Amino acid sequence: MSQPSFSYQNRPAIIQNLKNEYFDLIIIGGGITGAGIALDACTRGLKVALVEKKDFASGTSSKSTKLIHGGLRYLKQFEFNLVREVGKERSILHDLATHLVRPEKMLLPLIKDGNYGKIITSVGLMVYDVLAGVEEEDQRKMLSVEETMKSEPLLDKGIIEGGGLYAEYQTDDFRLVTELIKTSVDYGSQILNYTTCTDLLAKGGKVCGVACHDDESGEDFKIYGDYVVNAAGPWVDQVRKLNKKVKETKLHLTKGIHIVVPFEKLPVKQSVYFDVSDGRMIFAIPKNDITYIGTTDTNYKGNPRDARTSKKDVKYLINAVNEAFPKIELQIEDILSSWAGVRPLIQDEGKSTSEISRKDEIFISDRGLISIAGGKLTGYRKMAKRTVDLVLEMKSSRSGITKKTKSKTKKVKFKGNNFKNTKAIASYKTKLLKENPNYLKEQIRYLVDLYGDQAATILSFADQLPGKNQNAKLLKAEVRFCVDREMVMHLTDFFVHRTGRLFFNIQSVKDHLNLVATDMKHWLDWDAAQMNEEIAIMTEEIKQATEFK
Ligand code: FAD
Repeated sequence: MSQPSFSYQNRPAIIQNLKNEYFDLIIIGGGITGAGIALDACTRGLKVALVEKKDFASGTSSKSTKLIHGGLRYLKQFEFNLVREVGKERSILHDLATHLVRPEKMLLPLIKDGNYGKIITSVGLMVYDVLAGVEEEDQRKMLSVEETMKSEPLLDKGIIEGGGLYAEYQTDDFRLVTELIKTSVDYGSQILNYTTCTDLLAKGGKVCGVACHDDESGEDFKIYGDYVVNAAGPWVDQVRKLNKKVKETKLHLTKGIHIVVPFEKLPVKQSVYFDVSDGRMIFAIPKNDITYIGTTDTNYKGNPRDARTSKKDVKYLINAVNEAFPKIELQIEDILSSWAGVRPLIQDEGKSTSEISRKDEIFISDRGLISIAGGKLTGYRKMAKRTVDLVLEMKSSRSGITKKTKSKTKKVKFKGNNFKNTKAIASYKTKLLKENPNYLKEQIRYLVDLYGDQAATILSFADQLPGKNQNAKLLKAEVRFCVDREMVMHLTDFFVHRTGRLFFNIQSVKDHLNLVATDMKHWLDWDAAQMNEEIAIMTEEIKQATEFK
């Protein structure tokens, strides 16, 4: 099977492969869970197909707090195994995607009658360091009141009793998904976005494939294979119910939102994980020119796609910030952008939203549909490993031939990451800046943080363009790269799920909407009406990120 490049032009060839080939594994859903399973399976030699209804990472996997964390909160729920597992995972993920999983310090201020007392925190963070396998230089440090205030002078000294500094990792969830998908494509997986699984196909009472609808061409087609995995995140129940006999619901959905403010409005010196007066905890995370704050945790009913940031959500976060940082006086008008996501949690009768475990679970229907839900971004690789182990076990017992292949993903670096460590990334940025003196340090940083060593390709595309406006050239080169190599089909794909600009630099979306639309019209053969429709959809996205009802 020849491998077409991962761009719009090659969709017909990918569809041909999906229709004509017989797969070992068909995956429904292109969030972190589905993308992780695809990579695990194809690197073990399985023939993999994956369909995603909208864009990759357009579900929950672009709406998280964007932390690859060791699960400090799980300690409070005594879920030691979970702490150990996700903690170890962090350092593996840092090796696999060094430019995308970046170590950051997190400050946990201790307040009177807060969630974490001094002794509990000291012991807890120590246990956390051990369970999570934290490197010595990153291990926790307990701080006095003075040291805590020095670390974060914006805090309310009157209520601070000390603090803890510990290790967390920050990421760009949507880029993790994109690079996982691209890496899987390199290993031969056949993957398509904007393709909905509309039905499950069965033979002899067992699922043997999926019926699909390609939104772009309007074509309906079928994919056949040995096993089907439902990795549809908050839509897992909907996909399960494609089998009409399935009535019960496995998921409990909760909504979480984040708001983005200019860094100068909340200039925290490092990320802070602080108490809210209702007993919850939230994060304030600085990232270049902005600080983002989140999250909430409220029961959610309805289509996950319709989840929005409400005025009530926003007020809750603003009040929490103003209580913890009394000099700040944050207002709703300060908000630059926001996002709302839906957690696909496993039902846990009688537990409140924040008490429900974040554990993942695999369930197999009587017709053999394998569904996986729950879990975290941080644990995606282990979830993928468990799912593929199960598929291989099922394959063995069906065929009677035992052929055990171990997961290889511990060693499969993401596309764009040829870096040994964080230092190597810094050297690469310096080298690129030297070789490209026309660009600013921030422009190089932006490219390398998002695309890793693929930044060089984008810079070479920019070099081929006429004109002197370096900013416009770089943006056009980035658009070309994403269309050509990352299956970008729509303006929202570029501005939201490849670059995160809607969240972290909404002004650049507003400033360059027409320029990007004109370029994409060229690359994707849009007519004028299509281009206007794309602009209208992106304008609506901006509205939803900035207007709250
Ligand atoms: P999704 O990303 O939703 O992917 C499912 C995909 O399936 C979607 O793209 C959807 O379009 C597709 N789909 C649905 N139906 C069909 C169909 N019929 N055919 C084809 N495709 C279909 N985890 C962390 O580790 N760290 C964090 O900091 C963190 N913060 C979070 C904060 C919030 C507010 C939330 C909501 C979650 C957070 N999480 C975090 C959890 C993490 O984001 C989720 O566990 C993870 O993203 C779920 O990924 P998924 O692939 O299962 O679901």
